[in-house]
Amino acid sequence: METRILRGQKTADSIKAEVTRELQELARQNVVPGLATILVGEDPASQIYVRSKARTCEALGMHSESIQLPTETTTEELLEVIDRLNRTDTIDGILVQSPLPDQIDEELILLAVLPEKDVDGFHPQNVGQLCSGKTGLAPCTPMGIMELLKNEEIPIQGAEAVVVGRSNLVGKPLALLLLHQHATVTLCHSRTRNLPEVCRRADILVAAVGRPALLTRDYFKEGVVIIDVGINRIDDLEEVTRLLGEDSERLPKIQEKGSALIGDVHPRDPLGIATAVTSVPGGVGPLTIAHLMKNTVTACKMRRGND
Ligand code: NDP
Repeated sequence: METRILRGQKTADSIKAEVTRELQELARQNVVPGLATILVGEDPASQIYVRSKARTCEALGMHSESIQLPTETTTEELLEVIDRLNRTDTIDGILVQSPLPDQIDEELILLAVLPEKDVDGFHPQNVGQLCSGKTGLAPCTPMGIMELLKNEEIPIQGAEAVVVGRSNLVGKPLALLLLHQHATVTLCHSRTRNLPEVCRRADILVAAVGRPALLTRDYFKEGVVIIDVGINRIDDLEEVTRLLGEDSERLPKIQEKGSALIGDVHPRDPLGIATAVTSVPGGVGPLTIAHLMKNTVTACKMRRGND
């Protein structure tokens, strides 16, 4: 069986094209949606994410405000920043980049962002909406994955969907979204018994775990569609070579860089068994930022009673 490699860029581009159309409509009413990103501390990966969110915002012609706070910021200080952004009319979306330093009470921060500006979809009000089948502001990665499945014409209705990983960020909201699209959903986690056997039931198999190459060939049913959300950086080049194979075209670049990004799914095992598998990197990654842009426009329209 030929296995299709799914790349997120095509779907991300079509999400951005839709955002551009909506922005043009809003511009006719003199409205420019705005996204504020808050980064606490100096985690290099978070700095890259935040920069690329702001860049995408600006490239699409949206207003963006990037706030960088020191690592020792207190919960109260962060709450003050959020309060100011909540009251700023030109800001439609507020994103607090995770992870936050230990001294910050994440629960309080999550509750402080106004639900109508919560473009991450983490506020309990938005989580409740998602549970009851409304997807106004839902988490960006799962929403991006649903767009990918739609764009790639993967049938969801009636499909057996197995999601490995039950985080509030990815696994749980994605399971709900698949359920709303009439999949039969199984949600797995670290205590699931006989994980390979459960995964072999899947027509659509999603890995959102954070363990490199956890899912190997004995997890896949013939014809499955695999969505690999995991992004794991591996520095051990021997391990990388073992996983990718000595003839991998990726190896020269990886050797130059000194590390590789590996998904939660073994990079070679799906080939010949799965109908399709997302690439890592370049699979799910581009969808998250594209959907963040869409959520910012949605937030802007909803706040103006325009949706
Ligand atoms: P979390 O660490 O929050 O959750 C991981 C989940 O995996 C938990 O539910 C955990 O179970 C489960 N798990 C851990 N080990 C096993 C195991 N051996 N067998 C079965 N289940 C297991 O991770 P996230 O959801 O935040 O992220 C998952 C991955 O996705 C990461 O690699 C992350 O980098 C990536 N990611 C990628 C994004 C993108 O844009 N491409 C966006 C967000 C995340 P339990 O609940 O029992 O502990």
